[in-house]
Formats: sequence, C-alpha cells, structure tokens
Amino acid sequence: MLTVNCPTCQTIVDWDDESQWKPFCSERCKLIDLGDWIDEKHKIVDKDDKQEYLIPDNGLPLSRD
Ligand SMILES: [Zn+2]
Repeated sequence: MLTVNCPTCQTIVDWDDESQWKPFCSERCKLIDLGDWIDEKHKIVDKDDKQEYLIPDNGLPLSRD
C-alpha cells in the first residue's frame, strides 16, 4: 500500500481509489490547503497590480502657441 503524508496536517494517507481526498486526509485539510493557495495567489496578483501602472508618456496633445 502506497501512503503519502497529508500536505496540511502530515497525517499518513493511504493512496488508493477509496481515499477521495488524497493526497489530503480529509475534505477539511484539502480546503485549508486550497485556501492557503488562493491567499498566496491573491498576494501575487496584488503585487503585480502595484507594479504595473499604465502611464501614457506620449500621445498627449501638446498645442502651445
Ligand atoms: Zn490532513
């Protein structure tokens, strides 16, 4: 029997068709890990938003007489 450690709580999980939450030990651990992943993704997206400003530096009509 192949076993893996639950990525969230390190519980040993049997890797077979009956382990519906593998590699997690339970739905709870899967949702916790998914939540962490989403949080991390949002942080990265926020960082990108702050770094990327669309500042047009040309195309402005300069009509000074
Ligand atoms: Zn777990």
